[in-house]
Amino acid sequence: MPALIETVTRPREAAGTLPPAVAARVTDALARPAAQQPDYPRTGAVTEVRETLERMPSLVLPGEVDRLHRRLADVAHGRAFLLHGGDCAETFAGNTEDHVRANIRTLLQMAVVLTYGASLPVVKVGRIAGQYAKPRSKATDDLNLPVYRGDIVNSASPTPASRVADPARMLSAYAHSAAALNHVRSMMASGAADLGRVQGWNQDFVRDSPAGERYRALAADIDDGLRFMSACQADHSALHTTEVYASHEALLLDYERAMLRTAEGDDGRSRLYGLSGHFLWIGERTRRLDGAHVALASMLANPIGVKIGPGTTPEQAVEYVERLDPDSRPGRLTLISRMGRDKVRDVLPAIVEKVTATGHRVIWQCDPMHGNTKETASGYKSRHFDDILDEVQGFFQVHRSLGTHPGGLHIELTGDHVTECLGGARRLDDASLAARYETNCDPRLNPEQSVEMAFLVAELMRG
Ligand code: PEP
Ligand code: MN
Repeated sequence: MPALIETVTRPREAAGTLPPAVAARVTDALARPAAQQPDYPRTGAVTEVRETLERMPSLVLPGEVDRLHRRLADVAHGRAFLLHGGDCAETFAGNTEDHVRANIRTLLQMAVVLTYGASLPVVKVGRIAGQYAKPRSKATDDLNLPVYRGDIVNSASPTPASRVADPARMLSAYAHSAAALNHVRSMMASGAADLGRVQGWNQDFVRDSPAGERYRALAADIDDGLRFMSACQADHSALHTTEVYASHEALLLDYERAMLRTAEGDDGRSRLYGLSGHFLWIGERTRRLDGAHVALASMLANPIGVKIGPGTTPEQAVEYVERLDPDSRPGRLTLISRMGRDKVRDVLPAIVEKVTATGHRVIWQCDPMHGNTKETASGYKSRHFDDILDEVQGFFQVHRSLGTHPGGLHIELTGDHVTECLGGARRLDDASLAARYETNCDPRLNPEQSVEMAFLVAELMRG
């Protein structure tokens, strides 16, 4: 990879420089234990990259982040549903127009189905334009090389040189994120998200899927709904444009720090925003309560997610709520449970009860992917469609029995026709995985499996 640090000129103005008091608090937060950070051989270069990024335009704007916050408040109150999806790991080489468009298209297809299933607006958030840093369970891989940590850190190719952490990759990640976001924004503005068009894609799915017959009735209901709205001349801009927000795991602290900006809110108060994306989450491996990731997130005005795995105690969950939502703002905190199909029904209820008793309004979101990863007989890291669905069903059962809002779904998906997850209507088996197993990290639902999942979840929502 060319050394971008030599080719990106550092802008003159230090617009991103934080007020000294804020910078001191950030430094303090980041001095805490930080898991999953790369060992950069050239620390001088890290500072140079950070200072360059601090002067570049932010990727998203505070006003957009605030708008998402308001949308998420509706989710927290049970008046909307949050759909979150995209690649496990974006890659620089995979950041093509086709890929970005296909992922957004799949997200929108799912959203239309879920809107009708839930009879609620669906807030759409992509794992996109920044999902470049990956937490890993081991420091070395099977070849005993330093592990691949995502394109923002090193290269997946299996040579010692490619696995050296290179700070200049943060500049590439910024540039790729800007390009992806630009494309998403253009899609939204130019009618690609028109409901009629998205429903047309879903009709193709119903026609072509082996399980299409099962979904025909719901697809027809969606048609009726759209026709009814047109007939009422409710055919306003909301049917033709939509909002898609960008999110990623806020893992790589040097990068996230460089994208911090302060901005004044309507009340004249200055707030600190992480403007690398609209929604940032803390992963299962970096959520320690006394760690740097939680400390940094607690300072931000963005909506924040925390992945909670099966080892999470109700007491810990309450701590997240108190640290990350001290002002008790609905929509501020999303607890993303990723328990696994065999644990969700046992572990989640006590967490939901204890958090609900605090009076805070969090969003309960289900990530049915990360607790259901298995190695297949032929050695692929995969997930079975039925396990994913079972965890979603368990999540809904828990919330139905406690009277809380099953507020969202967090899925690893791609619009490319990959063969990474088992099952679904085409009954993908172990032998089929080799055909198009392309992920750099975790297995994703392909577009057919994603839309099928949306139809099944919609059925679940309708009771
Ligand atoms: C992910 O979302 O890709 C991920 C690594 O998840 P988790 O932190 O829940 O393991
Ligand atoms: Mn993943």
